[in-house]
Amino acid sequence: MEANLARECGTCTKCCEGWLHGNAYGKPFWRGRPCHYLSAGKCSIYGNHPEDPCKTFKCQWLTNNDIPGWMKPDDINAIFTSRTKDGLDYLEITEAGEKLHVEVLSWAIMYALQHNINLQYAIDGGTNRIGSSAFLALNWS
Ligand code: SF4
Ligand code: SF4
Repeated sequence: MEANLARECGTCTKCCEGWLHGNAYGKPFWRGRPCHYLSAGKCSIYGNHPEDPCKTFKCQWLTNNDIPGWMKPDDINAIFTSRTKDGLDYLEITEAGEKLHVEVLSWAIMYALQHNINLQYAIDGGTNRIGSSAFLALNWS
């Protein structure tokens, strides 16, 4: 996909807030635990934040022109991420602050079906998948 240079994170910090997992300078964060460096809704070390994962991670809203502009993570409280498991690519939607909006899920399912994209999404904490038989047969335990 071509990067959408018009899109910027702005005040969004969804990928720092403890919805996704990562590790910043040896301090891990995960679902339910925000990054150690997130303070008052901002990165307290912005400018000196690590290359990996902070500068390299880009959610799908930021980089994939197919994702509608209204789906900015801090507007929909969900994060679209590109993932790979056992050589199979898939799109993941992570709830980030509230139950996944039905209009977001509807859009994602239509998009996945139209483009033969594997999709994993959480709704109300439960994980669901649609996609190829090979994708559905992967061992997720
Ligand atoms: S979730 Fe996406 S838009 Fe928000 S800060 Fe992270 S990369 Fe930027
Ligand atoms: S170091 Fe800053 S940019 Fe990186 S995850 Fe933590 S708060 Fe976010």
